[in-house]
Amino acid sequence: MAEEKMQFQAEVGKVLDIVVNALYSNTDIFLRELVSNASDACDKLRYAAIMHPDMTKEGGEFKIDITPDKDARTLTIADNGIGMNREDLIKDLGSIGKSGSAEFLNNLTGDKQKDATIIGQFGVGFYSAFMVAEKVEVRSRKAGETQGWIWTSEGHGSFAVDEADDVPRGTSVKLYLKPDCAHYAEAGDVRQIVRQFSDHISFPVVMHYLGETENINRAAAIWTRNKADVTEKEYGDFYRSLTGAFDAPWDVLHYRAEGTIEYDALLFVPSRTPYDIFQPDRNAKLNLYVNRVFITDKAELLPNYMRFVQGVIDTKELPLNVSREMLQNTPVLAKIKTGIVRRILGELKKKSEDKENYLKFIDAFGTVLKEGLIEDASNREDIADLCRFHSTAGEEMTTLAEYVSRMKAGQKSIYYITGDDLNILRNNPQLEGYAARGLEVLLLSDPIDEFWPQNLTQYKEKTIKSVQAGAFDLANFPLIETADTEKASDDAMKALTAFAKEIVGDEVKEVRSTERLTKSPAALSAGDGEVSIHLERLMRQHNQPVLYASTHYFDLNPRHPLIRKLAEKVEQGDTSETNKMMIRILFDEAKIIEGEPIRDPAGFSRNVTDFMMRAVFGAPEDKA
Ligand code: ADP
Ligand code: MG
Repeated sequence: MAEEKMQFQAEVGKVLDIVVNALYSNTDIFLRELVSNASDACDKLRYAAIMHPDMTKEGGEFKIDITPDKDARTLTIADNGIGMNREDLIKDLGSIGKSGSAEFLNNLTGDKQKDATIIGQFGVGFYSAFMVAEKVEVRSRKAGETQGWIWTSEGHGSFAVDEADDVPRGTSVKLYLKPDCAHYAEAGDVRQIVRQFSDHISFPVVMHYLGETENINRAAAIWTRNKADVTEKEYGDFYRSLTGAFDAPWDVLHYRAEGTIEYDALLFVPSRTPYDIFQPDRNAKLNLYVNRVFITDKAELLPNYMRFVQGVIDTKELPLNVSREMLQNTPVLAKIKTGIVRRILGELKKKSEDKENYLKFIDAFGTVLKEGLIEDASNREDIADLCRFHSTAGEEMTTLAEYVSRMKAGQKSIYYITGDDLNILRNNPQLEGYAARGLEVLLLSDPIDEFWPQNLTQYKEKTIKSVQAGAFDLANFPLIETADTEKASDDAMKALTAFAKEIVGDEVKEVRSTERLTKSPAALSAGDGEVSIHLERLMRQHNQPVLYASTHYFDLNPRHPLIRKLAEKVEQGDTSETNKMMIRILFDEAKIIEGEPIRDPAGFSRNVTDFMMRAVFGAPEDKA
C-alpha cells in the first residue's frame, strides 16, 4: 500500500494552530502528555490481556523508553503498550474524538501560561508535540496484529500514513525538534522533566543516552506507598499529571481502608474549580484499579455532588476481569462508595476547622457541595454542617449552627432569602421587617439555593423558611427600630389598596398592606408557601413551565410617609392622575428591585421624567 496523505479534521487544525502559535510559554508539558499516553497504552494492553492473554505473548515487560539524540536533534518516546493500527492512527491522531476540542477552544483565556496548562484536560495532549517538533513520526503496531504503520505530520493541516516493517509492539513517537527546542534532546533536561511530571508512572521509564541506560522514575504506584514516605511535591505532581491541571491540590486524602472491605484510596480536592464542573456529564474522576491494574475511570464511585474529587481507588476485592455490568451491581463497590463518602465528609469537617482555608474550598465548590443536601439523604445533616452561607449578620459566611446560636428567644425558624446577586439581596426590601426585629436572614444567591430547602426543611429542629414566601412570624417579634411608628389608618390603607388594585390589578393577585417593610414604601412578594419570584424567574430562564400561576402580591408599607400621605388623599377621594402615576411608579420600582422586567419601560421612564419636571418646574396643577 502506498503512502496516503490525509487532512486533519478541521477542529484539529484549529487546535494545532493554537498549540503551535499561541501556547508557547510552557513547552515542557509535551513530555508529560506523551509519557502519559505511553503509560495509558500499557495500562490498556495490560487490561485487554486479562481476557486475551495472547496479546502479550511477545513484546516483553511493560516499559517506556525515551531516547534523546543530541546530534540528530530528535527525541523518541516509545512504549510496548496496546499500539495503533491504520484506522486507529487516522482516527486517534487525525481527529478529536471527544467533544474536547470545542471545549478547549472555548476555555482558552489568552494567557499563554494558563492555556498551555489546561491542554491535558481536553484530550488534545498528543498535539502538544507540535509545540516543540517541526515533524512528528509515529511508528506503531497494535498488540495481536502483525502489520506495522507509520504516521507522519509536520502539523500543517495534513498527515500521511504508510505501511512500515519491523515495528515492535506498541508505539514510538519520534520528534524532530525545532532548532530552539534542541535542549529536549539532552539527557539532563529530559531526566528533570520526566521526574517533575511523571515520576509516579507505574511503568519503568528508561532513558537511553550515549549507549547508557538509566531508570528515571520510581515506577511504584504512589497510592500503594506508605503515606509517610510520600512528599507533598510527589502528591502534587501526581495530582497534576492525573488531572491535567496545574494548580496544587487543596487537599490530599491518602488512606488504606482495612476491615470488611480493603482498598487504597488517594483522593484530591483541587484548589481551583475545573472548567467543566457544571457540565451535565461531569462525574468525579476516580480511576479504579484492581491490584494495580487500571480497570476504568467510569465506575461511578462517588455521588454526583462529590464530583470535585479526583483520584485513585485500588482494591483487591474485585476480579481483574470485572465486567461493566458487574461494576454496576457489585456490593463491593457499593461498600467502597459508602466508605469513601464518609471519609471525605469527615476530612472536610476536619479541614473546616481552619476557617480561612476552608473558605477557599467553599469558594471553589460550595455550590456543588450544596447539591448533596438534595442528593444524599443519609448524610444530609453532616453536609449541612459543611455548607457555608452569607447572612445579614455580617460580611463573613456562617454555618447553620452559628445561625442557630444567634437566634432570638422564641425564634423557631431559620430564615432565608434567594436572589441572583448577593449585594442586591442585601438591599432587598423583604429583609426590612426582619432587620427591624433583629432577626437574621441567610442570603442565598446560588441557583441551587432555590431547591435544597425543599429537602433540608429542618436543621436541629428549626424549620427553614423563605422570607419571600410569606411574612412568617413577624407579628411574634417586637420592632427594635422604632423610627416610623406612625402608621396610616386601616381605612386609609383599605382605600389605597383598592385604588392600587385598579391600576396594577391585572399584574398581581392582590395589593396588601404589609408589616414586613419598614423603610421602603412598597415591594413585590410571592404568596405564602408559594414558589419565590426568583425561582419563577429561574424556571422561565430554563424554559421550564412555571407550575404556578402568577401569585405575586404588591405590598404597601403603611408606615412610610409617602404611603401614609397617599392613603390619606385617596381615602378623601383624590384619584388624580398624579396619584395613579405614583402607584404605577412604585409598582415598577418594586419589580425592578426584584429583578423582574417591567411591562412598559418607556412608560416608566416617561412617568419618572414627568415627576422630575415637576420637581424642577412645579406641578402643572400648581400653575393653573
Ligand atoms: P487523550 O490521551 O486525552 O485521549 P491525546 O491527544 O493525548 O488525548 O491522545 C489521543 C489518542 O491517541 C489517545 O486517546 C489514544 O487513543 C491515542 N494514542 C496516543 N498516544 C498513544 C500511544 N502511545 N499508544 C496508543 N495510543 C495512543
Ligand atoms: Mg493523552
